[in-house]
Amino acid sequence: MKIICIGRNYNQHISELNNQRPEEPVVFLKPDTSILLKTFPFVIPEFTQDCQHEVEIVVKINKVGKYISPKFAHKYYDQIGLGIDFTARDVQQNLKEKGLPWEIAKGFDGSTVIGNFLSKDQFESVQNIEFSLEKNNQVVQKGNTKDMLFSIDEIISYVSQYFTLKIGDLIFTGTPAGVAKVLSGDQLKGYIADIQMFDIKVL
Ligand code: ZN
Repeated sequence: MKIICIGRNYNQHISELNNQRPEEPVVFLKPDTSILLKTFPFVIPEFTQDCQHEVEIVVKINKVGKYISPKFAHKYYDQIGLGIDFTARDVQQNLKEKGLPWEIAKGFDGSTVIGNFLSKDQFESVQNIEFSLEKNNQVVQKGNTKDMLFSIDEIISYVSQYFTLKIGDLIFTGTPAGVAKVLSGDQLKGYIADIQMFDIKVL
């Protein structure tokens, strides 16, 4: 399986990192070895002084597809989840400045938190899903999929031009504003509406 991530998909997050608004989705991949096992804490790697949380809506692909048109994209997923795309921001910034790929800043072991999944059918619209991240019981990130620059169906259509989508592939759809450094001892809880989707300890 592959983990496809979309960067810069929420305006306020683009502004907080001083990035440009993209004309097309910004796409990168994380290896499957980056998945944090459910019962494990997240250990901040030694190579970063600024490891940040990015809470994101996750879409799980349930059908093989290529060149999927936006109008049929909804047939390729039936579950919506929530996760964290942990990012070594200092490492990423350094690579970005040099115009280099930033995989090591995002794809390191443990950097992908995958919480629970909910059936797509329980949402009236996948483009109106509220989600949030609590750090030590305080809300630090809050988003709604209605604010995405590229909708879930547009993302699926776009990435399927380049990558054949397979059953079990995951798409991280971008983070809203509020990304910040995590510290050892932090507790991170993710929510879709008021349903808790994950609970992670940072070490
Ligand atoms: Zn991200």
